[in-house]
Amino acid sequence: MPRFQGILLTTDEAGFSARVTELDELVLNGDGEVVVQVERSSLNYKDGLAITNRSPVVRKWPMVPGIDCTGVVDLSSDPRFQRGDAVIVTGWKIGELYWGGLAERARFKGDWLLPRPQGMDGNTAMAIGTAGLTAMLSVLSLERHGIKPAQGDVLVTGASGGVGSLAVAILAQLGYRVVASTGRLKESGYLAELGAHVVMDRAELSGPGNPLQKERFAAVVDTVGSHTLANACAQVKYGGAVAACGLAQGMDFPATVAPFILRAVALYGIDSVLAPEAARVVAWRRLTSDLDPVKLLRIASEISLHDALEAATAIVSGGVRGRLVVNVRT
Ligand code: NDP
Repeated sequence: MPRFQGILLTTDEAGFSARVTELDELVLNGDGEVVVQVERSSLNYKDGLAITNRSPVVRKWPMVPGIDCTGVVDLSSDPRFQRGDAVIVTGWKIGELYWGGLAERARFKGDWLLPRPQGMDGNTAMAIGTAGLTAMLSVLSLERHGIKPAQGDVLVTGASGGVGSLAVAILAQLGYRVVASTGRLKESGYLAELGAHVVMDRAELSGPGNPLQKERFAAVVDTVGSHTLANACAQVKYGGAVAACGLAQGMDFPATVAPFILRAVALYGIDSVLAPEAARVVAWRRLTSDLDPVKLLRIASEISLHDALEAATAIVSGGVRGRLVVNVRT
């Protein structure tokens, strides 16, 4: 029986533990049809919560965290996938309810897999990962609403984080004038390189505010929730739209209906975990065409499985810039 390394989260009388250890193929997700030799995973905010046990992300113990990964099919009883096919998995509750991607091998249901776009390597796929998919689903919702670059500034909150960095880069590439809100003004240069026109201090948005404020943005991609989302809605121009995809500041939404009923602002909820396959296919196609590879290199850095344990604490404290790609073989 092959053994392989991965991160294992356990909880027992002695308490919670997160460690890199040897795992056994037998305990991989029982009824998945496809075994994947994982090349790269990534560290997302949700993985940080799971690895630090800060919030109840893990629904089954023991658990291999990792809400996304990419690799090559090793074994498959699903006719859609053959040995050697390069695939991507994001969401579907891997790393929460099913063993996830922060290990050298993983067993998944065929329905969870997408072919990796032609010509895309594992590094690029996980530099994008769940964060890129979420950013693109957000942008697609604004496009469906009819938002055009000529309508004005688009705000991205949590701009230095994974979803935020990718949203800035995608929107800038598409010709939008991006206002990047961040708590790390020292990253202004980085955000400008990704294409932000203006960098604003997140303190301007993070406290309680009036139900309606000066109309400032045509649209918003919000990764932080709470007062920031409420203030963002209150500053959207008549007929504009907000894509809400995150909760880094908080899960609460201390807002009024004023922007929705007096300014016809639309609030779109974005979920990447159970997003239907058709939406994912469109999003990944757009990610291959609308993301500058040079900017992606700037956004992502590579770490090892051992590094991921430490980086988990940093990401839940808002201390990680851009994306962390995890090389599961190191
Ligand atoms: P990151 O940690 O990489 O980015 C989050 C960013 O939010 C930070 O970098 C920081 O940006 C900002 N931030 C952190 N703490 C606070 C705070 N207290 N107040 C205001 N801003 C804060 O995480 P990800 O990019 O991986 O995820 C971002 C959010 O999106 C998370 O809440 C995550 O759960 C959610 N998410 C949702 C998905 C979905 O399907 N809907 C999928 C993926 C992620 P800065 O320093 O620039 O201010």
